Amino acid sequence: MRYMIQSPHTPEECLMALDGQLAKGKDILNAFSYGCKSGDHTGYALVEAKNETEARNWVPSFLLNKARIVQVDVYTPEVIKSFMQKLHNAAKAADESTIDPDGEDLIRTCFI
Ligand SMILES: [Zn+2]
Repeated sequence: MRYMIQSPHTPEECLMALDGQLAKGKDILNAFSYGCKSGDHTGYALVEAKNETEARNWVPSFLLNKARIVQVDVYTPEVIKSFMQKLHNAAKAADESTIDPDGEDLIRTCFI
């Protein structure tokens, strides 16, 4: 599974954060990009991991309580097309009295 990791740190923690990331391994350090030079002291990475616990191992322990780790997916044009088809089918099947005239309720429905 793919996980997006955002690992923020304060300017004061910057060097410690980078060194902590290096301590995890050179490959793990290389997986991260940092916004530090732009004033956004956050490490960003897209990683492949078996589960969230494994993804959490990519983050230095002293930063774990601030890290945001989200399982993310990639969508193909075909998958998006199938979602649009489901939306279309749902709109057809819906009782006109239960949805607003613009179909706003359906558009806000998650088909994933
Ligand atoms: Zn920094």
